[in-house]
Amino acid sequence: MTDTPVPLVDLGAQHAQVADEVAEGWAAILSRTAFVGGAAVKDFETAYAEYIGAAHCIGVGNGTDAIEMALRALGVGAGDECVLPANTFIATAEAVARTGATVVLADCDETTALLDPAAAGAAVTPRTKAVLPVHLYGQAAPVEAIRAAVGDVPIVEDAAQSQGARRNGEAAGTLGVLAATSFYPGKNLGAYGDAGAVLTSDPELATAVRLLGEHGSPRKYEHTVVGFNSRMDALQAVVLSAKLRRLDEWNQQRRAAADRYAAMLAEVDGVVAPVTAEGNEHVWHLYVVRVAERDRVLADLHAGGIGAGIHYPTPVHLTGAFAHLGHGSGAFPAAEALAGEILSLPLYPGITQAQQERVVEVLAKAVAR
Ligand SMILES: *Cc1c(COP(=O)(O)O)cnc(C)c1O
Repeated sequence: MTDTPVPLVDLGAQHAQVADEVAEGWAAILSRTAFVGGAAVKDFETAYAEYIGAAHCIGVGNGTDAIEMALRALGVGAGDECVLPANTFIATAEAVARTGATVVLADCDETTALLDPAAAGAAVTPRTKAVLPVHLYGQAAPVEAIRAAVGDVPIVEDAAQSQGARRNGEAAGTLGVLAATSFYPGKNLGAYGDAGAVLTSDPELATAVRLLGEHGSPRKYEHTVVGFNSRMDALQAVVLSAKLRRLDEWNQQRRAAADRYAAMLAEVDGVVAPVTAEGNEHVWHLYVVRVAERDRVLADLHAGGIGAGIHYPTPVHLTGAFAHLGHGSGAFPAAEALAGEILSLPLYPGITQAQQERVVEVLAKAVAR
């Protein structure tokens, strides 16, 4: 076993597999000089809609815009409320805030880190215009239970971390009225820059989303609503189309790596392995364990050349950006308990058994100290 560092994410192996296709596709775009939208974007939108099983996919600038556009297509704005988990990437809350609506947080299930249906239901008021389950770390939130708890409030999925995941056989991204996803480079399906998409099977919502991203313009020189500029670049669409053809295989490699970690960690005291909720087909965007003395363990891992991370160290309500919501420490106990103990281990398509053994060796020493 070597002491070679193991990064948290290694995108090089993925790139090597698509390099030729990307180079050819980019050469074609450069010769046509159609850089925003166009045939390459349309081709990717069609392929991704088909892959997920949604009728419509609208390519946009990034995942945060995708969430905001999905909400705005539903008419969410000032005076409305949207419910989302306290333990998510800040973008979910940011997108809600940018619509003018109020962020209403709910706690997660401490075992799965997914939005707790009862907590979501309790957060609903007559002003609630959307509930946003986050398919965190690569597994779908229990959307059917959340739907039962929140009544007829529309569900908008944050599917940024769940490309290819399924719940009870249904694809993440088809479980709500709209879904937003991100193709940030490190996601399971990642571009070479920023990109995102909105998915829906409702044709009117699809039209509304597309209109918003195109400066509220249904036709050249006509602007029917105040929209903004959020469209997918053709160069990114080329990358995404090439990678989409390999996504299932790469997710399978992530699953195999997660299984290897589970087997190795079963022998290590003091490390709680992640739990897959019943009915879920996980795509392991992140492999998140729990340990005591997390910050010291993380420092030991870094000292040992292991690129571990924390997703996320601060729940939304304890960030400066959302301090104005007025929740102190203790408001969302499960989210806060997780924030103090979670640790993301290196996991990506192409990670080797030897690399994982090295991660577990350094981790076992750190927790035993
Ligand atoms: C990445 C991510 C986003 C935002 O995507 P960007 O493309 O970075 O704007 C939103 N929600 C979650 C859960 C994410 O992981």
